Amino acid sequence: MLMKNSNINNTTEELRYDLHSHTNLSDGQLTPKELIDRAIARDIDVFAITDHDSLSGLTIARNHCNDNGLKLKLLDGIELSASSDFGDIHIVGLGIDQEDNNLQQLVVKQKQLRRDRAEQIDDKLNKAGVSGILEMIKQDGVDLVTRTHFAKKLIQKGFAKDNTQVFKRFLGRKGKAKVKNYWESMQSCIKTIEGCGGVAVLAHPTRYPISNRKLSYLIEEFKLEGGSGIEVSYPSLNPDEAGWLEVHRAKNDLLASAGSDFHFPDLKWSDLGKFRPVKKNIPHVLDRLLLES
Ligand code: AMP
Ligand code: MN
Ligand code: MN
Ligand code: MN
Repeated sequence: MLMKNSNINNTTEELRYDLHSHTNLSDGQLTPKELIDRAIARDIDVFAITDHDSLSGLTIARNHCNDNGLKLKLLDGIELSASSDFGDIHIVGLGIDQEDNNLQQLVVKQKQLRRDRAEQIDDKLNKAGVSGILEMIKQDGVDLVTRTHFAKKLIQKGFAKDNTQVFKRFLGRKGKAKVKNYWESMQSCIKTIEGCGGVAVLAHPTRYPISNRKLSYLIEEFKLEGGSGIEVSYPSLNPDEAGWLEVHRAKNDLLASAGSDFHFPDLKWSDLGKFRPVKKNIPHVLDRLLLES
């Protein structure tokens, strides 16, 4: 149960939390400090920054909380890109140890894969008659390049009108600049996260382009490989999908997690803390993570 005061005679107030968010050290817009300040402004009690394949924002965020005496329980997090039998997936690691050697090595490896991939995407864009995009991204001082960075520049340069179009034309599964990814395996990512004391959570399961049947196998495999959690609430999830996910969470004995996957302040539907409440009385990642701290 996730209550602020769980003493028997206290009136209990539910915790506000968000366990999935991005800073400008991956493909978000806000700096780690700005993101923390926004979490405080949204009355969030427990918060995780989960940048794509990066640990760079965690210490900055923690120092910001400590230096300013902010009352926010911060969990160190990451969102790893991983390859699975069902295609590329995202695994959120919560309560990770950023000093862990295996985790640091994995992050170094993933960052190199991202650099190589960015070059390949840029080559394909060149062949499609769009030149100099990666150079522009680099000039902005971007260290970890994601497809979001490509998308933004392509839109700015007028090659597409919005994100949907840019992913359809260039960056998505059938786009002209689609390249194969060589991410670390799901098994290895789970092992590294859980091996350093973290909780490995299957991120936004319904966003993968696979059938429900395949998704149910993916969830089973995630559990078999040692994963502990699954996101069961996030923006854009409809009630039917949420119900389906809850059935499969329970069937595989996974802990529930939830988050906004916040990237940009102007996307009001995915603001911090904004997602349907998770059903009460079901096993939750915070049961484990708050117990340990
Ligand atoms: P990457 O990890 O570099 O492959 O980039 C993936 C990121 O691109 C995701 O985390 C999303 O933020 C964004 N993204 C992926 N697909 C789409 C899409 N169809 N529309 C908008 N953003 C997307
Ligand atoms: Mn992203
Ligand atoms: Mn993701
Ligand atoms: Mn994310």
